[in-house]
Amino acid sequence: MKLALQEAAQAFEEGEVPVGAVLVINGKVVARDRNQREALSDPTAHAERLALSAPVVSSWHRDEATLYVTKEPCAMCAGAMVNARLKRLVYGCADVRYGAVDNAYNLLKGDKLNHRVEVTSGVLEAECAELLRRFFSSRRGGRVVECGGLENRCGGDSTGGSNPPLSATLSNENSD
Ligand SMILES: [Zn+2]
Repeated sequence: MKLALQEAAQAFEEGEVPVGAVLVINGKVVARDRNQREALSDPTAHAERLALSAPVVSSWHRDEATLYVTKEPCAMCAGAMVNARLKRLVYGCADVRYGAVDNAYNLLKGDKLNHRVEVTSGVLEAECAELLRRFFSSRRGGRVVECGGLENRCGGDSTGGSNPPLSATLSNENSD
């Protein structure tokens, strides 16, 4: 997940929404990528989709692969994981609004699709969420729209942290 966070930080530097992904098979990193929607002018160029699509992966068995991604995947990326027959997903922070694993939808855990993906969530959650919060804060003069639900999961109720709760940081926007 630390490698995925490095990719996310790189995306941040490039002006992209900071999400990173790393694909691991048998303990070996076989692909790593970051969100590149703007750079590629491709609305589907999410970090996890790019990592799953890396040419180097084609000769490997994705059904033995674990994908690490810094944010809960969207519906498109969760669908790609089902199609790739990914074995396991590990993600960092929740996406309350668009997450398609545990929040807006539960695409990886239901019985309707023909493949289930093992899921572990909350790994380096605070770091993953903080990067997103900083990005949207810097881009919108303090407005945090896309990850506005994250305060329910990250930072606000942790113990021992030195960061103020997101709800305090976002008080102007946190109308609900
Ligand atoms: Zn996605």
